[in-house]
Amino acid sequence: MEALKDIMLRVAGVIEESIVDGPGLRFVLFLQGCRTHCKGCQNPQTWDFNGGTLVSAEDVLARIQGDPLVHGITFSGGEPFEQAQALLPLAAELKRRGYHLMAFSGYTFEQLLPKPGCRELLSLLDLLVDGPFIEEEKSLELRFRGSRNQRILNLAASREAGWTPVLDALNGSIER
Ligand code: SF4
Repeated sequence: MEALKDIMLRVAGVIEESIVDGPGLRFVLFLQGCRTHCKGCQNPQTWDFNGGTLVSAEDVLARIQGDPLVHGITFSGGEPFEQAQALLPLAAELKRRGYHLMAFSGYTFEQLLPKPGCRELLSLLDLLVDGPFIEEEKSLELRFRGSRNQRILNLAASREAGWTPVLDALNGSIER
C-alpha cells in the first residue's frame, strides 16, 4: 500500500474538535469537490474540484493524533467518496488505531456500492449519513442530518446483512 506521505488529499478544511458531526468529540475532515450540487447546500465553496488545498494523508493523521481527546473521525465535504481511493489507506490506519469512523455522502449507500473504492471505504467505516440534502425535506430537529431523506446507516450491520442498508439507532434521535 502507498505510504501516507505520498498520498495527497484535496481538502476544503478541518474542524479539530466537533460535537455536531457525529457521536462524541470528533475531528472532521472536509474533502474538496462535489458534483451533487444540492439546492440550499451550506458549503458551495466545496464544490470546485480544483479548489481547496492539497494535504498529505500523513499530515492529516499527525493532526488527528495531536489531540488525545478525539476518538472519532468524520469525513465530510464536499463529497468524500469522490476521493475514496485516496482515503482508503488513511481510513485503514485510523481504524487500526481504534478510531470510530463516520462519513457523510450526497450519494445513497446503494449508489456508492459500485463506485471505485467506495465499497472498500465503506468496509472500514462505522456510520454513513447518506443521500443529498433536499431543501423541501429540511429539518433542524434531525441529529447529524440536514433533511429527512438522509439516513444514518450502521455499516457493520449493513455489511452483515449482505450489503443492504441497516439504519443505526441514532437515526431516530433528534436535536434538543
Ligand atoms: S452533497 Fe453535500 S456538499 Fe455536495 S451539494 Fe449536497 S449538501 Fe453540498
